[in-house]
Amino acid sequence: MLDLSGIVSDSIVDGPGIRTTFFCQGCPHHCPGCHNPETWDFGCGTTVPVEELVDVVKSNPLCRGVTFSGGEPFAQAAGFAKLARLLKAQGYEVASYSGYTFEELLNGSEDQKELLATIDILIDGPFLMAEKSLEIAFRGSRNQRILDVPKSLAAGKAVPTASARWLGEY
Ligand code: SF4
Repeated sequence: MLDLSGIVSDSIVDGPGIRTTFFCQGCPHHCPGCHNPETWDFGCGTTVPVEELVDVVKSNPLCRGVTFSGGEPFAQAAGFAKLARLLKAQGYEVASYSGYTFEELLNGSEDQKELLATIDILIDGPFLMAEKSLEIAFRGSRNQRILDVPKSLAAGKAVPTASARWLGEY
């Protein structure tokens, strides 16, 4: 089960192409200037079985990718890892935002490490008002990185994506 604050089934702002975005409920980071402070409180969203969320993604034939957004997806890591596994098995690209950095997640809980091992792309780090920019693709502040997760895990350090799709160069 996942506790969600919302679902957008035709997003074009949470990654390249038409994507389904799942917004989770609950975030421990409380970044000043956060665009979604209504997602901070835990336990007050809509609780949905993971299998139903796969059906939501499949209901849009134009959808090629899925993004987990916040709230903090890694605060519900076990559920999102299960969802990511099911989506990957269906051929979807899976990306997740996190207010944690890649380095923090590498040393996180077993569930957080499992979620990390299941996704393709991580947009990491908290929103920092001092680093705010409207000119960078898919991020709110310049400290946030778009990481190739399989390459990062193989290297043991953060590896930015080289994908032109993700860099907004397409
Ligand atoms: S991590 Fe994201 S959702 Fe959480 S407070 Fe920061 S900007 Fe808002």
